[in-house]
Amino acid sequence: MKYWKKYTPREQDEIITRALSHNVDYQNNISLGIPVSKLDQHVFYEHASFLKDTPLLRAYVQNPNHIGCHTLGESESFFKGTQQLEQEVIELLAVDVLKAPENSCDGYVAAGGTEANIQAAWIYRNLFMQTHGAAHHEIALLSSADTHYSVDKAANLLNLASYRVAVDDNTRTIINEALQHTIQQAIADGIKYFIVISNMATTMFGSVDDPDEYAKHLSAYDVHFRIHVDGAFGGFIYPISQPSNNSLFSNPHVSSITLDAHKMLQAPYGTGIFIVRKGLMQYVFTKEAQYVNGMDITLSGSRSGTNAIAIWMILFTYGPYGWLEKINKLLYRTEWLCEQLDKRKVQYYRHPDMNIVTIRAKHISHDVAIKYGLVPDTHAGAPSWYKIVVMDHVELDALEQFVQQL
Ligand SMILES: *Cc1c(COP(=O)(O)O)cnc(C)c1O
Repeated sequence: MKYWKKYTPREQDEIITRALSHNVDYQNNISLGIPVSKLDQHVFYEHASFLKDTPLLRAYVQNPNHIGCHTLGESESFFKGTQQLEQEVIELLAVDVLKAPENSCDGYVAAGGTEANIQAAWIYRNLFMQTHGAAHHEIALLSSADTHYSVDKAANLLNLASYRVAVDDNTRTIINEALQHTIQQAIADGIKYFIVISNMATTMFGSVDDPDEYAKHLSAYDVHFRIHVDGAFGGFIYPISQPSNNSLFSNPHVSSITLDAHKMLQAPYGTGIFIVRKGLMQYVFTKEAQYVNGMDITLSGSRSGTNAIAIWMILFTYGPYGWLEKINKLLYRTEWLCEQLDKRKVQYYRHPDMNIVTIRAKHISHDVAIKYGLVPDTHAGAPSWYKIVVMDHVELDALEQFVQQL
């Protein structure tokens, strides 16, 4: 680990306090021009005594705006203290978790996985248009049938076609012939540029796509492609449970990755993470954004700096080994559940390095699904599957009760 380590609460407090002191100080300095301030002091009283022990809430009251991207070019100097913490989060995740060389990536804390996936598609669409003179109707998104629907939002917003590849009903892996057939169909439709969304754990199954399969099949044709990895769910588990996997920046085919800190990391909502190799963010530069200092190259404009600090705190509270232990606890529970299901001959899908168990609906009555809060694969009509996500609060006690009901 190059950057990831553990800090005590006191060390964290010192670092965050120092970062906040490098941000704009409305009390002691005059700043007339920016349309920002701390939270309304009549509502959020900044001298409340408990704030002194909670650096995150102090940051929240200070309300830093992290508009823009802080890993390249200039940024608004008003919030440079806390922007530095966001930069540290991006570099730590890129290098220590996602296996990128040092200082080789840009990134930012997005509203969520949805924004991060759209940001990726936006970048590659513009890249194909600007460097290859591609037209809209020649560019398409390509992903598996189990891919998150944010890809359909991206297709709709960016005016691109979207092709889905069938997966095997049992193994949830992309069917080779289907991939080949889908690519040929797209090419017959006039597509010359592909934006691939490869899953590092799908939402419903936790299944993982093989980006090299996409690369291999697409390379057989005279087309251009870029691969984005959607690790919104799996990004904080799979690289830990399977560090030598090929969905990370160690694979030259992977150009960018989405993570979601508000899923497995249990950070506040608004902590999607987008990380991309250097030289690509620039394709979405909005030159009309003249009142913002630096490069506005993110889909969101103003965004909360406190969210970045929350991610920073979680990472530095656990450290890499604390996080490894936590993930292994979840995987242990998942394994335990699978053993119980095996004993009862209940059919399910589980990726061996993931904490999702997706059970065939025929084994689950509607009442049990409701009682245990299982999530169906569809809310329209009869479900085929129900999933259990083994999060921190999903303890063996609860799993045992569930299993007894089957
Ligand atoms: C949750 C999820 C998303 C969307 O993330 P939001 O943070 O809800 O916007 C995208 N992809 C995958 C695989 C997900 O699990």
